[in-house]
Amino acid sequence: MPNSERSRAAQRRAPDDFWGCFVIETKPIDGKAFAAGLRARIAEEVAGLKASAGLTPGLAVVLVGEDPASQVYVRNKAAQTAEAGMASFEYKLAADTPEADVLALVAKLNADPAVHGILVQLPLPAQIDANKVIAAIDPAKDVDGFHVVNAGRLAVGLDALVPCTPLGCIMLLKHHLGSLAGLKAVVVGRSNIVGKPAAQLLLKEDCTVTVAHSRTRDLPGECRTADILVAAVGRPEMVRGDWIKPGATVIDVGINRVPKDDGKTRLVGDVAYAEAQGIAGLITPVPGGVGPMTIACLLQNTLTAAKRQKGLA
Ligand code: NDP
Repeated sequence: MPNSERSRAAQRRAPDDFWGCFVIETKPIDGKAFAAGLRARIAEEVAGLKASAGLTPGLAVVLVGEDPASQVYVRNKAAQTAEAGMASFEYKLAADTPEADVLALVAKLNADPAVHGILVQLPLPAQIDANKVIAAIDPAKDVDGFHVVNAGRLAVGLDALVPCTPLGCIMLLKHHLGSLAGLKAVVVGRSNIVGKPAAQLLLKEDCTVTVAHSRTRDLPGECRTADILVAAVGRPEMVRGDWIKPGATVIDVGINRVPKDDGKTRLVGDVAYAEAQGIAGLITPVPGGVGPMTIACLLQNTLTAAKRQKGLA
């Protein structure tokens, strides 16, 4: 067999060939059920705040343009905000809205006492600088946690509004593993919205953290050292079964739409889920793992922001 083929075969070899005698029952992490429980707890606290302090947390969501995926996200966010008993304010702007108009709307929402959280749905059309818009949001209302003030506060270990998806990952990990202290975590991906904040949060939990990315040498080898493996790459099933340490907890953040034989599409994560069976100890499925946690954590951030603005937290 030529060397290149041998190396490809070695990369894809069956898990039990690779790890020999290990027999592991892989358990899925049910993010959907956990998120439903979290939303119920949030709704209960919101009802209490209304009764005791006359406070109704309010979330404003700004959508510019007609991106179909963004429209679905915004619709779901508005529905779940209302279900939690919070006030939901939706602003839908045309795709050609000038940047100045978006900045003016953000300034108006910053000054509105009924709005405790502001989310500008990304991506934004080309004429609008997303960094400028994020920088214009009051950090106290930045429920996406993307403002440099919140990123900086997280980095130095101060209270911050933390990006929703990594916050959801850490909640799932703590729920299933208890203390994360001393565990080796490898985060694949270093984006500002997932990879970097996930690494900061794991460090805050006293994990030993490695952040891997497209320039990492020996990515499979790095992944194999992880007790906790977080994949946030955006490449369908890139993380193979034999990249996973036996018994590791795998958090698959990726959401990738791939074609099926019948011409339709299906969602897969960044981890080869079928190959991970019998190797990983715990794994988040896609869909139904990390995804549902993102909106639940947005509600959590809105509640936290409202309480802080009222001096109640
Ligand atoms: P980005 O595209 O911003 O970042 C991807 C990261 O993956 C980059 O750091 C990149 O490295 C790294 N990467 C790309 N290719 C490779 C490779 N071959 N080997 C190693 N690293 C690689 O993506 P996001 O962080 O925004 O999202 C990641 C995934 O998570 C996507 O599938 C997205 O859909 C999903 N997602 C899911 C959410 C949810 O609610 N569940 C929310 C947000 C995102 P480099 O920096 O070197 O380019």
